[in-house]
Amino acid sequence: MSLQRSKIAKILREGKIGARYKVMGWVRTRRDSKAGFSFIEINDGSCLNNLQVIAEKDLPEYETEVLKAHTGCSLRVVGVLAESPGKGQNVELRAQEVKIIGPVDPLVYPLQKKRHSFEFLRTIAHLRPRTNTFGAVARIRNSISYAIHTFFQERGFIYIHTPIITGNDCEGAGEMFQVTTLDLEAIPKKDGQVDFSMDFFGQPANLTVSGQLEAEIYALALGDVYTFGPTFRAENSNTSRHLAEFWMVEPEMAFCDLEGNVALAVDLLKYVFQWALDHCQEDLVFFNRFVDNTLVQRLEKVVEDDFQRLTYTEAVNILAEADRPFEFPVEWGMDIQSEHERYLCEEAFQKPVVIVDYPKQIKPFYMKLNEDGKTVRAMDVLVPRIGEIIGGSEREDRYDVLLERMKEMQLDPEDYWWYLELRKFGSAPHSGFGLGFERLIQFITGLSNIRDVIPFPRTPGNVSF
Ligand code: ATP
Ligand code: MN
Repeated sequence: MSLQRSKIAKILREGKIGARYKVMGWVRTRRDSKAGFSFIEINDGSCLNNLQVIAEKDLPEYETEVLKAHTGCSLRVVGVLAESPGKGQNVELRAQEVKIIGPVDPLVYPLQKKRHSFEFLRTIAHLRPRTNTFGAVARIRNSISYAIHTFFQERGFIYIHTPIITGNDCEGAGEMFQVTTLDLEAIPKKDGQVDFSMDFFGQPANLTVSGQLEAEIYALALGDVYTFGPTFRAENSNTSRHLAEFWMVEPEMAFCDLEGNVALAVDLLKYVFQWALDHCQEDLVFFNRFVDNTLVQRLEKVVEDDFQRLTYTEAVNILAEADRPFEFPVEWGMDIQSEHERYLCEEAFQKPVVIVDYPKQIKPFYMKLNEDGKTVRAMDVLVPRIGEIIGGSEREDRYDVLLERMKEMQLDPEDYWWYLELRKFGSAPHSGFGLGFERLIQFITGLSNIRDVIPFPRTPGNVSF
């Protein structure tokens, strides 16, 4: 019986001294000792740590394989696990067979032992997952996705697949990517306008900015639902927390008001951070050491502390009294900018902040109007270093009020006929929010640029990888 391949994570966790293992992976480094053997550090992506392989000079393939096992090669090694006398690892694999699967020319391989800048690594998106940082990001994204599904599944939420291509514009705003098969060299026109009846769908279509409206449909049938999928924004914002394509988690709950919505958001964040501490320890320790050495402490504190809760009006008052200048003037009715968000959670409260009851002018039409007629039942969750990580609201469930709000905001009710009908047929209070998955991963890893927490970042002018 031939030996099955073992993953390095498993060998490091529960490998038996004296047992034979076969591993496949990529060479991180090799050192040749004068004493007649070589150390090969091999990584297979299953965990952050490498497995140290010892290859003796008397192996028949020492010259042809071992000495050609340069950084970046893919390699197969069969050997016996032994306790390691050296520092830095408990076990090592004493090689019996070493075989190069895919060679590397060390003179041209871009990833060398030295630490490369994140900017440089973004130009080699096909190789950066082979670095410690990007391997760790990929494993954390995977584990946190699982945590999110587990959180909702444990609570009886139904996972809904909402469309990527949509004929409606979620917030009545621009900033969407158009989807078309029209020939851009010969656009069909009718009365001087683009004739969308000739387009693939017979009408304009876009990439979705949110699955919310469709999730509402399902919440008003299935109760508690959530989506977790890609969303797209064509806004030209080149910041460290905006992508043109990002992943969003969007729960939507029937018979749930703003209070219940805030409670779910806080529970979800705490659950996910605790999960990261419990399940991603090795990778977190790495980020704590090399990226941000207050990371683990911050995650632990966020799990323990209450989130600070305040209204928009209270937030504006606190900002107005701050003893420091802001670029954007502070006044009631303004949008809370990133500098304000950070002041609130990093200086004023030093913990995550939930702001509710925003002025209706700065929020979309679907948010439920408060009795004051001026504010809506919106909530944003802000965290230190990132700012807004969640945006949500109780939805307007009263037909007349919704219609009024649409007219006020110059939206055509015809375009939302089905959305209005949901308020006509068995309407119910309901609430939901959107959690930006990449901002969540930024918070968990401490990485400051959102381009480094998604495998293939899409930003203005950047789609080649
Ligand atoms: P911001 O004000 O930060 O641009 P937003 O208010 O436009 O965000 P929402 O429409 O409320 O964002 O989206 C819900 C969540 O999705 C946000 O709280 C954020 O975590 C995330 N998000 C929004 N836009 C982006 C983006 N361009 N890239 C990455 N994540 C985003
Ligand atoms: Mn928002």
